[in-house]
Amino acid sequence: MTDAKIPYSLNSKAVAEATRYWLHKRGVTLEEIAELVMMLQKKYYPGLTMEECIHNVEMVLSKREVQNAVLTGIQLDVLAEEGKLFSPLQDMIENDEGLYGVDEILAFSIVNVYGSIGFTNYGYVDKLKPGVLERLNDKSTGEVHTYLDDIVGAVAAAASSRIAHRKQAEREQELGQPHAPEDVEEAARRSALEDTEPE
Ligand code: MG
Repeated sequence: MTDAKIPYSLNSKAVAEATRYWLHKRGVTLEEIAELVMMLQKKYYPGLTMEECIHNVEMVLSKREVQNAVLTGIQLDVLAEEGKLFSPLQDMIENDEGLYGVDEILAFSIVNVYGSIGFTNYGYVDKLKPGVLERLNDKSTGEVHTYLDDIVGAVAAAASSRIAHRKQAEREQELGQPHAPEDVEEAARRSALEDTEPE
């Protein structure tokens, strides 16, 4: 029995770990998401490395709003796969019904975190369905990834948007131009993080 007097409090590390666990369990690697980022950004930044793409995917996945969306979406996919949702929601999610768009709405909460560039990128990968998204859209496997395909596309789009904002701040810094305070703080945070991060 839990003590009713103890206030509800959730350990944020547990949420972050569950996010990693469930992405992995549903067969999605960070590298695959990073490959989408590379595809979206390489023509703008020819020197972009896979390490940078992976780093930006990790930064997106470290946001609580993103973790909430990932866990909610995967949970609904799993319940649909197990046939545990009520009708007609069960059929709509199981069959990725054309008029059911709540999966995309949930993905917007991820894209939103890094602003409007993310929307364009999300729309692009959603239409093209490259790499991992093609696999997640394969309906012949018996697996349900109605939410996960949008989530993965949205994480890649958000990471792309983050790169675009970071590159702009770096360029301004190199040129000695003034930059927006948010960008300066973010750049300082990032370089501090990179100093302490193991290679
Ligand atoms: Mg979908």
